[in-house]
Amino acid sequence: MGTYDDRPWLARYREDYPADLEVEFPSALHMFRAALERDPDGIIVKYFDGTLTMRELDRLSDQFAVALVDRGFEKGHRLATYLQNIPQVLIAVIGTWKAGGIVVSINPMSRVRELTTLLTDCEATAILAEEDLFGQVAAEVVPTIPSLRIAWTTSPLEFQTRHDERLFKGVERTRHEGTEDLTEVLESVGDRTPEPVELDGDDVAFLGYTSGTTGPPKGAMNTHRNIVFNAQTYRDWIQLGREDSIFGVAPLFHITGVVGHMAIALLLPAPLVLAYRFEPGVVVDAIREHRPTFSIGSITVFIAMMNAPNADRDALSSMVKVYSGGAPIPPSTVKAFQEQFGHYIHNFYGLTETNSPSHGVPLGGDAPVDSASGALSVGVPVFSTVVRIARDDGSDADVGEVGEIVTRGPQVVPGYWNKPEETENALRAPDGSVELKTGDVGYMDDQGWFYVVDRKKDQINAGGYKVWPREVEDVLYEHPAVREAAVVGVPDEYRGETVKAFVSLRPGQEVTPDELIAFCKERMSAYKYPRQVELMDEIPKTVTGKLLRRALRQ
Ligand code: AMP
Repeated sequence: MGTYDDRPWLARYREDYPADLEVEFPSALHMFRAALERDPDGIIVKYFDGTLTMRELDRLSDQFAVALVDRGFEKGHRLATYLQNIPQVLIAVIGTWKAGGIVVSINPMSRVRELTTLLTDCEATAILAEEDLFGQVAAEVVPTIPSLRIAWTTSPLEFQTRHDERLFKGVERTRHEGTEDLTEVLESVGDRTPEPVELDGDDVAFLGYTSGTTGPPKGAMNTHRNIVFNAQTYRDWIQLGREDSIFGVAPLFHITGVVGHMAIALLLPAPLVLAYRFEPGVVVDAIREHRPTFSIGSITVFIAMMNAPNADRDALSSMVKVYSGGAPIPPSTVKAFQEQFGHYIHNFYGLTETNSPSHGVPLGGDAPVDSASGALSVGVPVFSTVVRIARDDGSDADVGEVGEIVTRGPQVVPGYWNKPEETENALRAPDGSVELKTGDVGYMDDQGWFYVVDRKKDQINAGGYKVWPREVEDVLYEHPAVREAAVVGVPDEYRGETVKAFVSLRPGQEVTPDELIAFCKERMSAYKYPRQVELMDEIPKTVTGKLLRRALRQ
């Protein structure tokens, strides 16, 4: 089920939506070079009042690659980026690929413990961090990671002269001991160019860290083939061309930003307007100024835009191709957005393990709503993708029957970094072929539209940011007063879901919910710490001692 022939609705789109896509380039670097040849003077990045052309990006990324290789970086080595959305991300990505390396993009909200876990797991050789983030977090971590040999820092003020006070108040250039400044590193290379490195579709381009369906962070190995295929999917599904420009509001560390912003911009090529981070007023001003035509973001971004005081029809008039992914979209929001700005929000569905979309709503399509759950359809499987709904015993469910969404296609990653067991469980069919068990529960209707109605996995989805309850519980257990902790997602008007902890205390201990919230806040990313803590005498469990999360949620 879920193949092209299962999509009767496609009759009206048949010409624009062929069944399959051929992967056009052996690697994402070949894809970049082809675009460079077509349009060397084309602008690829717009960042406040700064720009980068394709030729400039080529030059800077050459220098980046040479500098890495000079310092002992080899094919297959990992470079971690610890950055907000700044032009240097593209230089680092292309530069690392030119050196044959793998980019590990780390959420800039990560705190000491999270950064340590990821850098240790991927055994990074190099890190490029924003100066401020280095000072606050990475300075403490870097000396503790034995594999790290290269530490470069850079500033978000580098490519712009107009410093928006709403974002950069108090931000100053700072040097940190044991690091090199990226600009100086690149300048020192001069006009040397890197030795060519062989890359093909099976080479890993990115490690995207995700809790997946089973908890602790795992690096999904996004290959060059995955990325090229999905860049083409964005181009053909959303009908993007050189006349378009892309608004980069999703974080570039997440696969949505990697593919839905960077890779698609590099493929066309077309300008990527970078939003440093999501600040509604600044974002609306940037759209008004740069007139991007397409964006993909999380639904919370679009909700916040609707409430921004400077947002009106005129400001958003250019952005005619709006896509949302990463979290369920309430149909009422789609309607309100359309009434306010005149644009329909199209649903995209996928996981880090599918390198961004596996399902989408065709451009201009009006997705149906499931009458029982009120869920808006996530669309239909994209090109060359076959999706089935699996019953608990692994057999195929019937049309309309609810089960786990299981996906196959050229965008599905081949595995997790150094995690054979997790790879086997989540990413292999019984015959050994690659097939992703998503942990999402849904069904396909008789027209071929898919709906996500529940989750098998414990993951909490806070406006697109995924929180794994165990990680929060582990931090709570570090508090001396905590006897037991159970973390669940509870409904939240703005984020869809938010993090709530139920805690029981050791005898004779006293601590307030606010103190526990502050304890977690200090130790983890802003989106992860519990917003609510409820103290209980006893946490409900099954007879075998398993937490009854569902009961707690209710
Ligand atoms: P991530 O790996 O961060 O991309 O998270 C993937 C998860 O986000 C999926 O397994 C879903 O649970 C959720 N998700 C992504 N897109 C959608 C969507 N359009 N509607 C509902 N849930 C979504």
